[in-house]
Amino acid sequence: MIDFATAQAQLAQSVRPLPAIPIGVRQAVGRRLASDVRAACDVPPFDKSMMDGYAVSHRSLATSGGRLKLAGKIVAGQMPTRPLEPGQAIVVMTGAPVPTGADAVVMLEHVHTDGDSDHIHVSAQEVRTGQHILPAGQIFSAGQVVVPAGRLITPQSVGLLLETGVPNVTVYPLPRVAVLTTGSELCPAESEPGPGQIRNTNGPLLVSLLSQYAQVLDLGIARDQRDELTELLRRGLDADMLVVTGGVSTGEFDLVPGVLDRLGVTPVFHKVALKPGKPIWFGVAEGREPRCLVFGLPGNPVSSLACCVLFVFQALRYLAGGDRIPYRRARLTTDHLIRGDRPTFWPAAAEDAGEHAMVRPLTWLGSADQRCLAETNCLAYFPRGDQTYGAGESIEVVPLSVW
Ligand code: AMP
Ligand code: MG
Repeated sequence: MIDFATAQAQLAQSVRPLPAIPIGVRQAVGRRLASDVRAACDVPPFDKSMMDGYAVSHRSLATSGGRLKLAGKIVAGQMPTRPLEPGQAIVVMTGAPVPTGADAVVMLEHVHTDGDSDHIHVSAQEVRTGQHILPAGQIFSAGQVVVPAGRLITPQSVGLLLETGVPNVTVYPLPRVAVLTTGSELCPAESEPGPGQIRNTNGPLLVSLLSQYAQVLDLGIARDQRDELTELLRRGLDADMLVVTGGVSTGEFDLVPGVLDRLGVTPVFHKVALKPGKPIWFGVAEGREPRCLVFGLPGNPVSSLACCVLFVFQALRYLAGGDRIPYRRARLTTDHLIRGDRPTFWPAAAEDAGEHAMVRPLTWLGSADQRCLAETNCLAYFPRGDQTYGAGESIEVVPLSVW
């Protein structure tokens, strides 16, 4: 058995980012950028009027005593056909390019016409050079970084990237993750268990957790039987990652490590000092394309969840070029007694309360008790050793997410 920090270090050493791929910006939401995105054009592409009004020249206003001759109209979507001459004003609509020679836009509301349809009157004092004009390239100039490498593409960055003339980006691909549930006692969760059977809840739990970040292939349920396990595990090894639940402890029917060994998967670690999740198994199938990361998670539901969050989520983050998942800090809402020789990741509910995040350890009877999972949104970390933590004490919490 190794300690948690050693297991994390070995995991970090074993996972390499997936080769990055080009993808359409609209399809890239939720993916991490593998390289900087630079603007392909100036934004805005031309000096742009931000108001409906008149394009004028500040200097010419002063010399003409504020009386300007109307010399045409530019609507959004058109380019000016001639420059603004001294003594002239040109009508511009919001979003229209401002003609050369103009250095300000005066709002319709700030102009007097005196019933004269050919001329406008504008007071030079009311006009500031540059007003209501967004100069070409002010938001981005071509070549500037729009979104740096490592960022997640969000819905709100889609419009931005497209505005800068970038239809495709380079991202880490969605990993392909196979999930195999093992256990002769399991029946499909939607059917009625026969005598001695229980519903397979880990499979659906893991598929749900992983579908947030991966393309998941559900391989279903394998009985604790060598041939059946061999067949399904072999299929799972074609993915970037194979997540197995059950059958990794030391009982007579915990056949998964042995079968993986025979399939040529190199073990990295088996059994980690933590609670829940001690039996966890991790190995890598090398010499194949893609190389496959294999996780054997213990069958008890809360162990399965905790190991998925602590190891599998971390690996998903590394596959996308990421770093360690940051654990947050939060203050305990109540006293909490911890006993044991292993660090504990206790199901808990964290919430922001003013300046500090607060965390409430939930009532939890152990790895088989998933009743608390309806409220769980993090795992509260307690180092090994018997200790009572006091209400208000600051502890580390692990979010149930990759990002
Ligand atoms: P194992 O790690 O295979 O020894 O499983 C430990 C215990 O977890 C079993 O005795 C079952 O009660 C439970 N268990 C295993 N697999 C599942 C599953 N897929 N869904 C729900 N409970 C499970
Ligand atoms: Mg089992």
